[in-house]
Amino acid sequence: FRSVFVNFVVGINGTGEEVTKLVTTLNDGKVTSPDAVEVVVSPPFVFLPLVKSSLRSDFHVAAQNCWVKKGGAYTGEISAEMLVNLDIPWVILGHSERRALLGESNEFVGDKVAYAVSKGLKVIACVGETLEQRESGATTEVVSAQTKAIADRISDWTNVVVAYEPVWAIGTGKVATPAQAQEVHSELRKWLQKNVSAEVAESTRIIYGGSVNGANSKELAAQPDVDGFLVGGASLKTRPCDDLVNSVDLPEFVDIINAAT
Ligand code: 13P
Repeated sequence: FRSVFVNFVVGINGTGEEVTKLVTTLNDGKVTSPDAVEVVVSPPFVFLPLVKSSLRSDFHVAAQNCWVKKGGAYTGEISAEMLVNLDIPWVILGHSERRALLGESNEFVGDKVAYAVSKGLKVIACVGETLEQRESGATTEVVSAQTKAIADRISDWTNVVVAYEPVWAIGTGKVATPAQAQEVHSELRKWLQKNVSAEVAESTRIIYGGSVNGANSKELAAQPDVDGFLVGGASLKTRPCDDLVNSVDLPEFVDIINAAT
C-alpha cells in the first residue's frame, strides 16, 4: 500500500472558503507515518494555485483533467503545459464522469495519458466498469480494453498510476468488497505482466476508488494488489476527535491515510 489520492472538493463542488478550511484540517491532521504514503490532493482547476500555496509541503497536488495535446485554440480547456508551468506535478485522466458524461473514449484517454506523460506529468489513469458491464460478466474485458488503450500509447510507465474505480461504487456509498477490488486489481496486474512487462506489473501502483471511507479503508488497504485509494466524498467529511479534552473535528481523510500504516 503506497499512496492515497484525494479528489478533493469532489468534482466541481466547493467554494474558496471551503477549500481553505479543508486544507487547514488536512495540514493539521495527524498522519502517523507520512513517509509511507504519498498523498495527493486534487482540487478543481481554479483552486489549484490556492491549494498549492497553502497545502503542507509533504502533500502534493493534482489537476482533475488536462487537454489531449499541445495547447492552442481549445477554448475552455487547460493544457498539460499550463500544469507544468504552475508546477502541478500530477493529473487525473479518464475519470468515469468524463468518460460517461463527456464522451471520452478509451483512445482519447490513452492519447491524453501519453501526452501528459510526454510533458513530464505524473498521471492517475482511471479505469472501471459500469454496473451493467459487471452484471454481464464484462468487467475484465472492459478494464483490459481501457488499460490497453493506454499501453498502446506509452512505453514508460514510471509516472503512471492506474486507478480502478467501478462506476457503480463512485459516490454511491456502495463500496466494492475487498475481494471484488482485489480480484480486479489482480486481473489488471496480470494484464500488465502479460502485455507490458513483469517489471511494470510489479512497480505500477493500482489504486482503488469508489466509496472509500475511514471505516472500510483498512480492510481494502490490506489486499495485496491494492496500492492506494482515490477518495472522493470522504475527503470532505470530518469526524469528532477521540480526545474529548481538545475536541476538534478531524478529517476522515486522515483515517484513510493512516489505514495504510
Ligand atoms: P467517492 O469516493 O465519493 O465514491 O468518489 C470516488 C471518485 O471517483 C473520486 O474521484
